[in-house]
Amino acid sequence: MCPGIAFGSVHIIDRRRVAVPHYHLPEARREQELHRLENAITASEQQFEALQARSESAGLEQVGVLLQAHSMILRDTELRGATRRRILDEGKNAEWALKETIKHLKRLFDRLDQDYFRERRSDIDFVGDRILRNLVGAETDLLDNISEDAVVVAYDLSPADTVNLARYRARALVTEGGGPTSHTAILARAMNVPCVLNARGIMNVAGTGDEIIVDGYAGQVILQPDSSASSQYQRTKKRRQAEEQALLQDRSLPSETKDGTSVGLLGNIEVSQEIDAVVANGAVGIGLYRTEFIYLERPDLQGPMGHFDVYGAVVRGMQGLPVTIRTVDVGGDKLLRTNDGTQAALAASSPAPVESHTNPALGLRAIRLSLKHPGPFREQLEGIVRVSAVGEVRCLLPMVTAIDELREAKSAIRDIQEQLRAQGVAFDEKMPIGVMIETPGAAVIADLLAAECDFFSIGSNDLIQYALATDRGNRDVAYLYRPCHPAVLRIIRNVCESGRARGVSVTLCGEMAADPFHVPILLGLGLRKLSMTASAIPVVKRMLRRLDVSACETFVEEALNMPTAKAIEEALTERLREWAPDLFQ
Ligand code: PEP
Ligand code: MG
Repeated sequence: MCPGIAFGSVHIIDRRRVAVPHYHLPEARREQELHRLENAITASEQQFEALQARSESAGLEQVGVLLQAHSMILRDTELRGATRRRILDEGKNAEWALKETIKHLKRLFDRLDQDYFRERRSDIDFVGDRILRNLVGAETDLLDNISEDAVVVAYDLSPADTVNLARYRARALVTEGGGPTSHTAILARAMNVPCVLNARGIMNVAGTGDEIIVDGYAGQVILQPDSSASSQYQRTKKRRQAEEQALLQDRSLPSETKDGTSVGLLGNIEVSQEIDAVVANGAVGIGLYRTEFIYLERPDLQGPMGHFDVYGAVVRGMQGLPVTIRTVDVGGDKLLRTNDGTQAALAASSPAPVESHTNPALGLRAIRLSLKHPGPFREQLEGIVRVSAVGEVRCLLPMVTAIDELREAKSAIRDIQEQLRAQGVAFDEKMPIGVMIETPGAAVIADLLAAECDFFSIGSNDLIQYALATDRGNRDVAYLYRPCHPAVLRIIRNVCESGRARGVSVTLCGEMAADPFHVPILLGLGLRKLSMTASAIPVVKRMLRRLDVSACETFVEEALNMPTAKAIEEALTERLREWAPDLFQ
């Protein structure tokens, strides 16, 4: 799932909503209720202070800034005053009174037209939830009391939780929900935290403090291991680490097939800290920078220069290698925290307000959201245009389904470029603009899109989800999520052919590129650029150095006529036993 083996003790996180009791209080009990409220606020204050101290000592300034904002809301006189009034005048119990105050405050924020204030709604929710948990005696927060050896076990984690937990050095993550291409998995891999998703029933059997082993390679979790299991996993861990070190020795070898075809291996990043790993693993650039996570790194980010600063650090860090910056892709599984129904911090701190819907993957997501909120979108685009003067930068648009979206985004970019030109600001006049091909619609009109853009990046994670009508994070349909499905292969072939016919370069940047098993198919389909999480680069390179492109092409010709994913997987398994026996066990 997310490679690595971790030993530690279980830390349960239950994000489900806390039940709010509603009852009326006789007048005689109202003063006493005020004390309960004050105690809960004081406890929350102390918890925020402790968290802030921890985040500062861990060098996590951005988390500190966020917590500071939360402390300020906690001290807000309206929050406290209105809740007190509801208790004293209306006789509502503290939980109920607090809930109503929070609802009222959020409505006030909704009416403000600046996005910045609307975004603060979720901070109010967060603070309200904390006071509420202190009132009812529920566990307060996932970052509290995390021990040095914590393995976090949860129903599900939002992207924001995942990044924060990784920063707090949780040893591993285990969730009941999610799949290998969900954003929890992608982020865990990016942050180098072993992770097993889709561990059904784990929340029923694991308890905080239990000993646990997480094998992110095999997707296994061992609770209360005996000594023989522990020593077996210690041996496996050592062997795996040795293998990874050995793979890194290929770093300076050319990334080419046996018959001399060169294949560009690039890195995917979500946060800027990953560039060290991208460079260390020998990438020739960044093929996908998922900028939606920028708000986790910089919750205070404002205006085009805020974007410019963050992208500038990445572009400079890549020392002249190309960087493909994708505009914000919020929505889909980057929106919902599934178990309690509240919005994830990621969506809440994104540049535009996002509503939750029952079918978010098909809703106002990615480029659609950006075009609907031109203000924040133009700020981001200006940051990208400006940073094109610093190094080789390409601008990538997510989830395009129609030519109009590409045209509208391009016209916004041209407009910004004109303004900057008039101001004498430097930028790359020829900055390439590309589209993600991650919907069947875009794939089918790839020839038309190719006529109007500079490059394609195939997002196999979404492409598979939409082509096969299979939610990428839903474990109930995970058996249908098959990269080797003939429909997926035919779609990718079509995109590669359209790109080739128009001289438009095609990269594949979904998780399919990170799995060495799929490399022969991707080469055979015509891909010559693959972008993936940094840690996968060495093994993918070793795999392609075992392959002949001509043999891969012949295999793909046969595979394209096979009727099922299973048949293709079995045939590929057989070939790989022959072509790369050492890598294919
Ligand atoms: C994809 O869909 O394959 C992709 C790379 O984008 P994301 O995973 O961020 O949706
Ligand atoms: Mg995608």
